[in-house]
Amino acid sequence: TTTGTDVALAAHGLHVRFGAARAVDGVELEIGSGEIVALVGESGCGKTTLARSMLGLIRPAEGSVQHGSRPLSYAKSALKDFRRHVQLVLQDPTGSLNPRHTVYEAVAEGLRIHGIGDEETRVADALAKAGLRPAERFFLRYPHELSGGQRQRVVIAGALVLEPDVLVADEPVSSLDASVRGEILALLLTLRAELGLSVLVVTHDLGLAWNIADRVAVMYLGRIVETGPTAEVLLTPRHPYTKALLSVVPEINKLDPIVLVGETPDPSRIPVGCRFRPRCPAYAAGLPEPIAARCETDPPAVLPADRGHHAACHLTEA
Ligand code: SF4
Repeated sequence: TTTGTDVALAAHGLHVRFGAARAVDGVELEIGSGEIVALVGESGCGKTTLARSMLGLIRPAEGSVQHGSRPLSYAKSALKDFRRHVQLVLQDPTGSLNPRHTVYEAVAEGLRIHGIGDEETRVADALAKAGLRPAERFFLRYPHELSGGQRQRVVIAGALVLEPDVLVADEPVSSLDASVRGEILALLLTLRAELGLSVLVVTHDLGLAWNIADRVAVMYLGRIVETGPTAEVLLTPRHPYTKALLSVVPEINKLDPIVLVGETPDPSRIPVGCRFRPRCPAYAAGLPEPIAARCETDPPAVLPADRGHHAACHLTEA
């Protein structure tokens, strides 16, 4: 679904199961080279599991992960090489940094794992790219001596030191103050512009997607239900689930509030027909019979709509 760009990282027909739970249930997702894609959804929708499988950390039951032009191989040496190129940036710096390691040790760790030399130069370079300058002044500091924003920059430097081509950022700013959030998002945009990095941002926060992403993919109960260019998806949402998520973020799009009934179902008991039907406000409001019957029996496919938009809903198929 990218527009003429090379693929940096993609999932094809991906399924991940935990026992009877279908956590990821047939996902297509592409991140183009130099593109920032936001994967959004509520907790429990499967977005973190999808991201972890695209990082090679979970082996899918079906489907494949593509890195550049090649399918990911799960042979040990291929996986190690892949992990160097596709780096995870976790949320909450206090959780991902070891309090007893200096900044230098934290950033150098990846180099040691991958047996890469020229350590001091690379660590200094990564810290500078992450906006910690002069880098040497940070080498011997400990996490508790840094601000929240500086700690997040150290985490990002720890990913950059391996010169990856893709970053997967899981809720990269959710633990930070509003003032620092903007700085970290600006840093991600700079890294994309200067290093050509591709970024998959995993978040529940549509405002974050709005501020940073070129494209948005909305996930519900293991599937992508809507995807497209950010402005298309967030200003003219098509799927009833996306509309409901957006209706509580008035700063993007003034929609009347839509309250979803019930909870996200258990992924081991996915509803028949459209998986969103038990909570779908459009279905509950009454649909013409031929459509309502399809909602009850046929799982909607993710079909192209207009202007790069794709949605999985019988109502939008017309
Ligand atoms: Fe709602 Fe039917 Fe669309 Fe599913 S397919 S989101 S139930 S209208």
